[in-house]
Amino acid sequence: MHREVTTTVRVKLHSLTERKARLIEREYTAFQDAVHGDEANLYSATKQQAGKVRSNKNPREDTEQPVVLRNDCITIEHDEDTVLSSWWFKLPIYNPDRDRGDSIWVPVHVPEKDTHLLTDEYIRDSELVYRDGEWYVHLVCKRSVAIADEYDDVLAVDMGAKWIAVSAFLSDRDTQFHGAEVRRVREHYKQLRKSIGKAKVRSGAQVIERLGNKESQTVEHELHQVANELIARARERNAVIVFGDMTGLRFDNDEGRYVNDKTHKMPYAKMANILTYKSHLDGRECIPVSEYDTSVTCWRCGSQNTSREVQGRVECHECGLDDNGDKNGATNIGKRAVGKDIQSPLSTVGAVVAQPETQVVLEGTNGEMEPANSPEDVGLTLCEGSPRL
Ligand SMILES: [Zn+2]
Repeated sequence: MHREVTTTVRVKLHSLTERKARLIEREYTAFQDAVHGDEANLYSATKQQAGKVRSNKNPREDTEQPVVLRNDCITIEHDEDTVLSSWWFKLPIYNPDRDRGDSIWVPVHVPEKDTHLLTDEYIRDSELVYRDGEWYVHLVCKRSVAIADEYDDVLAVDMGAKWIAVSAFLSDRDTQFHGAEVRRVREHYKQLRKSIGKAKVRSGAQVIERLGNKESQTVEHELHQVANELIARARERNAVIVFGDMTGLRFDNDEGRYVNDKTHKMPYAKMANILTYKSHLDGRECIPVSEYDTSVTCWRCGSQNTSREVQGRVECHECGLDDNGDKNGATNIGKRAVGKDIQSPLSTVGAVVAQPETQVVLEGTNGEMEPANSPEDVGLTLCEGSPRL
């Protein structure tokens, strides 16, 4: 079996001549005009993309949108013989001097670890981004990776608020708790924000903004650590990874919120996407299963006549189970993945469970979409909004 894996490679433009810098800046500015509905001269394919951004996203006037570069208009090439740069990128632009679409070759830095991804067949629609006075192209590379078809166990992952993840093997219910740190990080920054908030208003706001960045980077780092732990654990037993999908939960109109409020306490969609991405790169299947009711169901007898009055425990009034609540939830997720019959051969799990879309991109509760690899992989700071359309 194969899965498509998407990696965003960030290449940095450098040593731009004055003419090229001017053309790029002109194209970028014209793109901003176009996405906000103004008439603008752009490379024709880019103009189409601006129209799409406008109709799909209707961006606010005070936001800047990356220029979407259609994949058939861009090329990246390695050229050892050039002194200035060993990598060059062909960027489509509108040339006002000739009054038509044109393209320019610009020198770029490519992270060494990503050079193997930069072949034409992998490259998809990408983005020209301006950040902190520098130009970047976020090259979206999509390739197919081989995924194992047979597994000896199931590693079920329950993502939560207290722990980033609780994982349990289905065969013997061996359980591990991952990443409590996130809660500490969040608490720490919450306190800091409170104390800073009382200080002078203007400088306080700036400090809080910086804290926000620092916090999200720390949390992001933690999510990667947890994903790595989970994959290493699955590898030990040749296990398929399944995780509880909270995005399917219904919105409760009476409550005015999602029934399960865990989603608000951690970047669930981001975690799911990082885990899926890394798992596929490891040649391992990673499947979301509905998490609905898994926390209130007794894993042993299937009854929902349970109570969770004691912190962190679940008690079953039918069979007398008294278990750790997270462990119970994870086990139910694993059982759901293999179907009702827990005796069924685990190697069939891929066939039993409905296959998700090749590249899992789950929508978070705020409607945010995340690319499967995180911005950390390309050395980016997190920003709001949808990075891809
Ligand atoms: Zn029971």
